Amino acid sequence: MPELPEAQVIAADLDRALKGSVITGITVWFSKALRPDDAERIPGHVLEGAERLGKMIRFRLSEDLNLVCSLRMTGQFVFGREYEDGPEKDPRTPAARIRDGRAPPLPHARLAFRFKYAPGKEDLGTLFYRDVRKFGRLTLFEGPDFMKFKRDSVARDPFEFDPGAFRELVKSSRKPVKTLLMDQRSISGIGNIYATEILFASGIHPSRPANDLSPKDADRILANSREILKLAVSGGGSTIANFEAPSGKGSFQLFHKVYGKKGENCPVCGRPLSGSKTGGRTSVYCENCQK
Ligand SMILES: [Zn+2]
Repeated sequence: MPELPEAQVIAADLDRALKGSVITGITVWFSKALRPDDAERIPGHVLEGAERLGKMIRFRLSEDLNLVCSLRMTGQFVFGREYEDGPEKDPRTPAARIRDGRAPPLPHARLAFRFKYAPGKEDLGTLFYRDVRKFGRLTLFEGPDFMKFKRDSVARDPFEFDPGAFRELVKSSRKPVKTLLMDQRSISGIGNIYATEILFASGIHPSRPANDLSPKDADRILANSREILKLAVSGGGSTIANFEAPSGKGSFQLFHKVYGKKGENCPVCGRPLSGSKTGGRTSVYCENCQK
């Protein structure tokens, strides 16, 4: 599931490729991914930019529309001109096949966005939204509704928190610290992978109640969050299972110290790493180094 670094990389790729382009058409193959009446309102609008919003992607469209994409487990954006059964098996031209919206031209494609590319941009073809598990959602908001959605559902991310406010957040919660870090309404952008790495780097056990931590512990967690997320962005994100940005796979998984390494030796003290469930998600940690 994409977290802050992966969403940031995807948004930057899409912004670079599409900023200023006009969306000329959309095909919906799976109407839960984008409601057909939302889809109908989008063509003709300029895509003014793409940016990260917590772990989500926000497309800014002309006339104050916002298309917000939550990729959930397996959502991906892919540019392409591929076809399920090859153009030779279909008498229509490839472009007509896409226009007709009969068959998703990529396996698991749920949506297709077509563009008139902005002057000077390379024509990358159609942007497909693929989603194997089908949990991802795109939602269209008008300006005021978008502001309300953002206020109610997307908390500050670790780069937006000042240390004092972060100390307050930690002090006010009785949740296990790992659960708090992953709660998008408290702090946005962090999921299981980075919460696991941040708590290892901070020497803090994932099931410690947040309000049991000292202000210094909170400061250390915030500083490590920023450092690890920044490094992960520069590594193109972590490719676990199927993450892939339009520009390709990330490599930060090569630098994970504990995530997915239960039973392997702790890179600091050499003892075997433990694993247990916290808030329904598997935590990996070192009993010796994380208190
Ligand atoms: Zn250790």
